[in-house]
Amino acid sequence: MKVFFVASEVNPFVKVGGLADVAGALPKALASLGCEVYVVMPMYRQVSLDSYDVTEFVKDLDVPLGYGNETASIKRISLSDNVSLYLVDNGAYFQRETLYNFPDDPRRFIFFSRASFELAKILGPDIIHCNDWHTALLPGYVKYFWDRRQVGTLFSIHNLAYQGLCDRDMFIYSGLPDIAFNPEGVEFYGKFNIMKSGIVYSDMINTVSPTYAEEIKTPEFGCGLDGLLRSRADVLVGILNGIDEEEFNPQIDRYLLVRFSSDSLEKKEENKKFLLGELGLVYDENVPVISFIGRLWDQKGIDIIIQAIPELMSRDVYLIILGTGSEYYHQVLNQFKEQYPDKISINLKFDNRLAHLIYGGSDFLLMPSRFEPCGLGQMIAMKYGTIPVVRGVGGLKDTVKENETGFVFFDYTYNALLESIDRAINLYNDKDRLNIMRKRIMLEDHSWNNSAKIYLDTYNKILELKKR
Ligand code: ADP
Repeated sequence: MKVFFVASEVNPFVKVGGLADVAGALPKALASLGCEVYVVMPMYRQVSLDSYDVTEFVKDLDVPLGYGNETASIKRISLSDNVSLYLVDNGAYFQRETLYNFPDDPRRFIFFSRASFELAKILGPDIIHCNDWHTALLPGYVKYFWDRRQVGTLFSIHNLAYQGLCDRDMFIYSGLPDIAFNPEGVEFYGKFNIMKSGIVYSDMINTVSPTYAEEIKTPEFGCGLDGLLRSRADVLVGILNGIDEEEFNPQIDRYLLVRFSSDSLEKKEENKKFLLGELGLVYDENVPVISFIGRLWDQKGIDIIIQAIPELMSRDVYLIILGTGSEYYHQVLNQFKEQYPDKISINLKFDNRLAHLIYGGSDFLLMPSRFEPCGLGQMIAMKYGTIPVVRGVGGLKDTVKENETGFVFFDYTYNALLESIDRAINLYNDKDRLNIMRKRIMLEDHSWNNSAKIYLDTYNKILELKKR
């Protein structure tokens, strides 16, 4: 089966969050099941192809958009047998300081989607698999403009909170026909909602965990699209993400001081010492290290962590935070760093190496998310014997079981978070139980093997649906 897999970020080329991890790992897992996968992403300034052979310059493509044709230049590199990466280049849109958060993001990703669609017509896949709002126009383009042999479409929702909402002039720019601009199509209260194109026009839809697939059909988690999602419930499924075990695996991790497995847990302690040393904190075998890695936005529960810090600092613990996000949270966290310099390490940056050291050297990882489509951090942590402390929502609920594979709380309050941290500290003080849980979580299977098979089954189901 030929799969055309389109995403706005792909590890290891560029990464802002979990989408890049998925787009880096799932295609490889699909290829090992016999698929031929064409991965497609924008050619950002941050992408370095130095260590790759740019085997083929495909061509300059004419990209028809509402105001006339634009040009995308397509490069291709081979990532492995049966996985190739296609880079969609247009300097005006992608040669920027960062990947996202520009006022013209809708325009940039409409261009990317239409260019990808033109490329798909050349490559002739069986399935077009698109991810999040940045690529959500493809099912709309397939519905209105596909003139080749039949193709199926799957739209994966990694985060419903970002929808690419914009003004009607962007709808005109997209080139979709006027009849699509209505509430049953892509209109959303007079605006153009790009994500709706993925939800309305794709053959099937999935989210990245079973619980999130249920949650988004409710007003609390549906971000205004719960009614639409309920109306498509018959083709909406939840498929749990896996983690890339070539990237995250304590037995082969290139960043750790000492590599380890569930049979050599004492070596995890060496990594803890090393981590604390690197961050200027003093190692003490009786003091647990509690960490947070993630985007510093409300979604991730950083507000309740901040509320919990004063009381948490009365316990014997170290707290390590790695992340970037809102300026407000940066300031507040820096103040705590000044207040508790011997107990807190604040690292306001994106740093893959430090993330690996934290996964390897911490005792606990906090993920108190307000909502969490899947969450990769908790699964990565488990692989490193670092016990997750999570809020029981979305994929966190599907992957962490209270007192078996971590600690789970439900109320979105700092008190509930603190209570679960206290349960974690109790466990830490009972080394036999601690090591039993560590071993258990390290031996759990969070690889892509299982989920890649479910994606393949879903593609087959789509092709069956199309035959009817
Ligand atoms: P989301 O996609 O919502 O940001 P996920 O938990 O699904 O959250 O994935 C986040 C990924 O990004 C994980 O691989 C995590 O380790 C990584 N990550 C997040 N913030 C940072 C950071 N500041 N430095 C390095 N890696 C980070």
